[in-house]
Amino acid sequence: MVFPVEKIRADFPILSTRVYNKPLVYFDNAATTQKPLQVIRAITEYYEKENCNIHRGVHFLSVRATEAYEDARCVIRDFIHAKSCHEIIFTRGTTESINLVAASFGKQFIHEGDEVITSVMEHHSNFVPWQQMCLERKATLKFIPLLEDGSLDMDAYREMITPNTRLVAVTHISNVLGTINPVNEIIALAHQHNIPVLIDGAQAVAHMNVDVQEMDADFYCFSGHKMYAPMGIGILYGKERWLEQMPPYQMGGEMIKEVFFTHTTFNELPFKFEAGTPNVEGAMGVRTAIRYLGETGMDRIDAYEKELLGYATQRLLEIDGIQLYGTAPHKASLISFLMNNIHPYDAGMIIDKLGIAVRTGHLCAQPLMEYLKIPGTIRASFAFYNTNEEIDRLVEAVKKAKEMLL
Ligand code: PMP
Repeated sequence: MVFPVEKIRADFPILSTRVYNKPLVYFDNAATTQKPLQVIRAITEYYEKENCNIHRGVHFLSVRATEAYEDARCVIRDFIHAKSCHEIIFTRGTTESINLVAASFGKQFIHEGDEVITSVMEHHSNFVPWQQMCLERKATLKFIPLLEDGSLDMDAYREMITPNTRLVAVTHISNVLGTINPVNEIIALAHQHNIPVLIDGAQAVAHMNVDVQEMDADFYCFSGHKMYAPMGIGILYGKERWLEQMPPYQMGGEMIKEVFFTHTTFNELPFKFEAGTPNVEGAMGVRTAIRYLGETGMDRIDAYEKELLGYATQRLLEIDGIQLYGTAPHKASLISFLMNNIHPYDAGMIIDKLGIAVRTGHLCAQPLMEYLKIPGTIRASFAFYNTNEEIDRLVEAVKKAKEMLL
């Protein structure tokens, strides 16, 4: 199979821009992906033809915009293989999805002496909300440690579960190490003890098939902007049985059924968790991005990105003094590395001047950096519009940075 990368690149206008008079190489896809013309046009078309506030009006535009928004919800349901559309809650992003669960589930189910399990590899988004909620509710937060290769220590996890454990929250894919965690096993183990599991899917949905029913996740969170859709929109998938029992997260319009001077009754799912005017253009963008991914083929994307990862790993390891962080056998298409004793920011600045966008620093995972005893890493993260030629340019840039800084 030949992957049509040149055809795909033509869909992403930003990829043909130049930085410092050099063709841009964009390897910061784990931070945010670029957007295809199809998504950009869907947003413009929404404002040109459909824009209106939703769920309220009975006039033509309002009905049309409401139908489009609710259709997007069901397209997302199909994308992650959820059971019903009302288990899909629109949020601002992964961060807000996790905050929603931490606040609402925490209020209802976490009490003094309870325990929540997360891991040392989490992004701050799947760390700080649990830490703060546990502090507030006098609960204990426990951290699954890592093995040498950056996999979760599953034996330690097994032993960590106690009768006081109320929730497990782990990432599907580490944004630093690239490790693809064995989420099915993590969830099955927790479920043996009737403990629900939240999966942070921010780094997963754009790179592999996700089936929340097959994995049996209780909550699954992700962001539009990391899957070729706009910023400012994200999704919380939650099993109906949990969402029904959880109190609203924010109060206001849309989330109510009836409001009296003395009390309020709340709307049904999913609206109970969607206070205020939602991001309709964002939903249009996510719907179009999902169609784009579907047309390209998730299996083909997965296979191509694995080829990029294999090539980049082999080429970077040719450089003397390179140290990779994250070498688990199941790994997504990103590489974190350091070389010799060079500070990641110094190397990052030189790589940038050569027209290549990589991420440097703690990558929003300070506890993990503390655990690994490093100041940060340089991270190259790939998408299906990247090429081996671009990886060659990265290798040359890393060599140059090393030459200049050693
Ligand atoms: N979790 C992981 C694993 C991430 O990589 C990120 C973004 N870097 C987030 C959560 C947060 O996503 P957002 O900023 O879109 O809310």
